[in-house]
Amino acid sequence: MTAPDLIIIGSGMGGATLAAALAPGGRRILILERGERLAPTPAARDAKAIFARGTFRPSEEWLDGDGQPFNPGNYYYVGGNSKFYGAVLIRYRAEDFRPRRHMGGMSPGWPIGYDQMEPFYSRAEAMYRVRGASGEDPTDPPRSAAYGYPPVPDEPDIADLRRRLAGVGLHPASLPLGVDINRWLAAGQTPWDAFPDTCGGKMDAETVGLAEALKHPNVTLLTGARATRLIAGPDGRITGVEVDRAGRREVIAAPLVALAAGAVQSAALLLASATAEHPAGLANRSDQVGRNFMNHNCSAVLALHPFRRNRAIYQKTLMVNDFYLTGGPEGEPLGNIQLLGKISGPILAAATPLPRLLAHWIAARSVDLYAMSEDLPNPESRVTLANGRIRLDWKRSNWAAHQALVARLAGLLRKAGYPVVLSRPFDRRTPSHQCGTARMGADPATSVVDDRCRSHDHPNLFVVDASVLPTSAAVNPALTVAALALRAADHIRTIEVAA
Ligand SMILES: Cc1cc2nc3c(=O)[nH]c(=O)nc-3n(C[C@H](O)[C@H](O)[C@H](O)COP(=O)(O)OP(=O)(O)OC[C@H]3O[C@@H](n4cnc5c(N)ncnc54)[C@H](O)[C@@H]3O)c2cc1C
Repeated sequence: MTAPDLIIIGSGMGGATLAAALAPGGRRILILERGERLAPTPAARDAKAIFARGTFRPSEEWLDGDGQPFNPGNYYYVGGNSKFYGAVLIRYRAEDFRPRRHMGGMSPGWPIGYDQMEPFYSRAEAMYRVRGASGEDPTDPPRSAAYGYPPVPDEPDIADLRRRLAGVGLHPASLPLGVDINRWLAAGQTPWDAFPDTCGGKMDAETVGLAEALKHPNVTLLTGARATRLIAGPDGRITGVEVDRAGRREVIAAPLVALAAGAVQSAALLLASATAEHPAGLANRSDQVGRNFMNHNCSAVLALHPFRRNRAIYQKTLMVNDFYLTGGPEGEPLGNIQLLGKISGPILAAATPLPRLLAHWIAARSVDLYAMSEDLPNPESRVTLANGRIRLDWKRSNWAAHQALVARLAGLLRKAGYPVVLSRPFDRRTPSHQCGTARMGADPATSVVDDRCRSHDHPNLFVVDASVLPTSAAVNPALTVAALALRAADHIRTIEVAA
C-alpha cells in the first residue's frame, strides 16, 4: 500500500462521510476500521437473535461508574453504529445552537450558529437521500433546499395515530428518514430500527458514505484494523497511528489524521495515547477529553387500547415536537417524541420482566413511542481508562424535564384513545446517542477541537465523530455528525500536504 495522505480511524457516520467528501480530490485516504462488513444472515432479521441473544453485540466489557463490568450496545462493523440505527436523519433545531435554560441547568450552545451549519445539513440530507416533508413541524429550522424525496408513508394504524394526536391539539410531523422502504421490506417484514442493515435498505455510513468514497481508487478500507494509539512528534504534529491487525502491531504514518471511532472509543484512544510529553493523553491540554459525555434521556412509551390491534410492521414514521422548545413549568424545553421501530413480542420480552404471553399480547396492540430529552454537558460525566479498560461514568442530567415530557405524553395519549400507557427508561448500557467527549469550542482552555473539528493541540489532527458535539440537543445525532464531517472536509481540502 502506498503511504496515505490521510488516515481516517473509523468507518461510521463521521469517518465515512468525511471520506466521501474528500475522495474526489485525489488524496490517498486510508480508512482503518476495527470491524468487518456485516453479511446477510437470518439473524439480521430475527428479533430474538438481536434483542435477546445479543448476536451482534461486541464481546468486550466496559466498567460503569461503580466499577461494575457491562457489555455495551456499541457496534463495531463497517459503517459503525449507523448499521443499526433508526435512520432518523434530523437537523438540530436553530435554537439548539444557542444557550438555553433547561429544568436541569443551562445548555451552553455552540461556537457556531445554525446558519453556519445549514448548508452542510442540506448537503448531508442530499447525500443520505433523506425523505421528509417540510412545513409540518412547528420547530423546523429554515432550510435552503427542500427534501429531495417524499416521506416514508404511514402504515394505516399509524395514520390513525397521527389523526388522534392531531385531534388532541398536537402537531405530528413526518420523521425525516434515510430508508428505502421497499428495499428494506423486500428483504424481510421487520422494522429497521436497531436491526442491522444487510440489504442496503438504510442510507447508512456503509451504503452511502463509504460506497461513495470507495468508488475512487485513491481510497482504501482496511477492516480488522484497530487503532491502538496515536503518536505525536516533538513539534506536536501527529506522525502516525499504531494499528493492531489480528494481534500484529504496526505504525502507519500520514501527514493528516482524522479520528472517527465514535464518542467513547475516540476519547479512549486519545487517553490511551498518553506519553511523558502528554501525560493526560493527546489533544487534551484542556483536560476535556472524555468529559461531558452525553447520551440523551430516553424512555419507551407504549400506548394501547385492549380492543385495538396495531398491525404496523415498521411504524417509525412520525414525530411530535410540541414540547421541544417549551412545556416545562417555566417554559423550559422538554424534548422530542418520535415513534420507535415496531416493538414485537420477542423485543418486549427481552427488554422487560413481563411474561412472554403478556409481552406478545401488549406488543400486538401497542403503538410504541420514544421520548427523548436533552442531556446537559457535565465535566464529571466521563470516559476514563482504568488499567486500560474503558470506564463510562455517565451522570444523567435534566431528568426532571424528561419525566415531565413522559408525563405530558402519557396524558395526551390517554386523551387520544389509548387508555393504557406504559413507560420505561432506556437501558443505561446502550450508549446509542453518545456524544460530547471531545467537545468543540473556540477556547483551547475549555475545548478539544475548534469549529472545523481540528484539535487545538495538534494541527494535523481532526476529530469528526459524535464526540465533538458540544450539546446533545434532543434529536438524533447522525445527521449533525455527517454535516460536521462535510464542514471539516471543506477545511481539510485547503490544507497542503507534502507530495
Ligand atoms: C440502535 C441504534 C439506533 C440509532 N438510531 C439513530 C437514528 O435513528 N438517528 C440518528 O441520528 N442516530 C441514531 N443512532 C446513533 C448513530 O448511529 C450515531 O450517532 C452515529 O453512528 C455516530 O457516528 P460516529 O461516526 O460518531 O460513530 P460510529 O458511526 O459508531 O462509527 C465509529 C466507527 O469506528 C470504529 N472504531 C471504533 N474504535 C476503533 C478503533 N480503535 N480503530 C478502528 N476503528 C474503530 C467502529 O467500529 C465504527 O465503525 C442510533 C444508534 C444505535 C446503536
